[in-house]
Amino acid sequence: MAGAAKKIFKKGDLLIREGEIGDRAYVLETGSVEILVQREGALIQIGTRGAGSIIGEMAMIDDKPRTATVRALEDCHVMEISRDDFAHRVDSADPILKMVMRVIMTRYRDMISRSQFVQLSSATSAETTENDDELHKLAVNAIKIHNELQAALEKNELMLYYQPIIDLQNLKITGFEALMRWQHPERGMISPGVFIPVAEESGLIVDLSQWALGVACDAVKALRQAANPKLIGEQQLTVSVNFSVKDFSSGKFYDQVLSTMREKKTDPSYIHLEITESLLMEAPGPAKEALEKCRAQGISISIDDFGTGYSSLSYLHYFPIDILKIDQSFIRSMSKQPSSSALVRSIIGLAHNLNMRVIAEGIENEHEASILRTLGCEECQGFWFAKPMPLPDALKFVQNWTPPKMS
Ligand code: C2E
Ligand code: CA
Ligand code: CA
Repeated sequence: MAGAAKKIFKKGDLLIREGEIGDRAYVLETGSVEILVQREGALIQIGTRGAGSIIGEMAMIDDKPRTATVRALEDCHVMEISRDDFAHRVDSADPILKMVMRVIMTRYRDMISRSQFVQLSSATSAETTENDDELHKLAVNAIKIHNELQAALEKNELMLYYQPIIDLQNLKITGFEALMRWQHPERGMISPGVFIPVAEESGLIVDLSQWALGVACDAVKALRQAANPKLIGEQQLTVSVNFSVKDFSSGKFYDQVLSTMREKKTDPSYIHLEITESLLMEAPGPAKEALEKCRAQGISISIDDFGTGYSSLSYLHYFPIDILKIDQSFIRSMSKQPSSSALVRSIIGLAHNLNMRVIAEGIENEHEASILRTLGCEECQGFWFAKPMPLPDALKFVQNWTPPKMS
C-alpha cells in the first residue's frame, strides 16, 4: 500500500496550485501556510493554517481541480497522504461508514466552495468545536503511527514476544503464544493494543501478520530443538499466531499462510492460528473457507477471547475450531464471585462436548490456576507462570524452567 511520505517545503514554495488536479493531501507537522485564491486577476489571502492542520483533503475524494493555492509562509515539514492510501482505507471501511463519509465529504466540498466566495477567514476555521479538534488529533496520530509502523517493519523494529502455555494437569510446557511488540527507537516498547488497531484500519496488518507467521515458524523450530524433553508434554511444542479480520478480506489468506510455511519448511501442525470471535462474525463466509483449508493441512485453530464477542453459539458448529481460549475477564471475576466460576465451568463443559480443548488466559495466581485445574481446564497461560518474553529468554525457559508448586 502506498504510504504517506515526509516532505519539506521551503518558505515561498507552493504546496498546492489552484486549478490543478490534486492526488494528495498534506498534514502540516511544523511551519505555517497561507491559503490564496485568484479573484479578478489578484491573489487574495483567505486564511492561514499552522502545525496540525490538514491541507488539500478534497483530493482524497474526487478529481476536481484545487480550489485554492497554498503557499508556505515559512519552512514547513509535512506528511503527504496519497489518494491511493486514502482509497485503501475507505475500501476497507464498513459500507455504511463509507457511504456516510462520502456524503459528508461531498457536502463539505460544497460548503468550502460556498464559503470561499464569502472569503473564509482563518478566524472561521478556529470555530471548530473541541470535539473536532480531538478527532483531528486522533486522525493525525493514526496517520503518524501508520507511517512509522510501515517503516518499522522495514527497519526490523518489530519483534515477537512469546508467552508459555502450560498444561495444568502435569505442568508441562505445551507451546507459546506469539505477541507482537514494537521497539520504537525513541518511544521505547509500544504495546500491540496501540498499533494493531491502526494496522488493521490501514490494511498494513496483512503484511504484519505474514511477517509474524514467518518469524513464528523459525521460532517454533528453535524452541523444539532447545527444549528439555522433561519440561514439555507428549505433544511437541507449538507456537500460536494472532490474526485479524482484515487478514481474510483479500481472499488470499490460505495461500499466504501456506506459502510462508512452505518457504520456512515448517510442519503445519507446529502452528496454531488464533482468531477472535468477532472476526468470525464479521467475515463468516471467507473465514470459514480459509480456515477449513488451513485445518485440512493440519493447522490448529483457536478461538481467542471467547465469551467477549457474540452471544450466539451456533458459530461453534459452523467453523472448524480446535481450542477455546477463555478470556481473562472471566478468570478475574471467577476468583471473586462463585457464580462466575459456574460460568467458566459451563464454557469448559461446552468445549469438551464439542471436542475442543480449553486454554484459560490471564492466570495471575495459584488460586486461579487450581480452580481451573479442578474445573477440568487443560491448559492455561498467564503472568503467574510467565510473562511474554523475547526468543532468547523463551529458549532458556524451555531448557530450565522450574514449574511452580501447586497444592
Ligand atoms: P490477546 O491475543 O488476548 O493476548 C493476550 C494478552 O494478555 C497479551 O497482551 C498478554 O501479554 C496479556 N496477558 C497474558 N497473561 C496475562 C496475565 O496474567 N494478566 C494480564 N493482565 N495480562 C496478561 P499484549 O501482548 O499486550 O497483546 C494485546 C493484544 O494485542 C492481544 O490480545 C492481541 O489481540 C493483540 N496482538 C498481539 N500480538 C498480535 C499479533 O501478532 N497480531 C494480531 N493481529 N494481534 C496481536
Ligand atoms: Ca491471542
Ligand atoms: Ca485473548
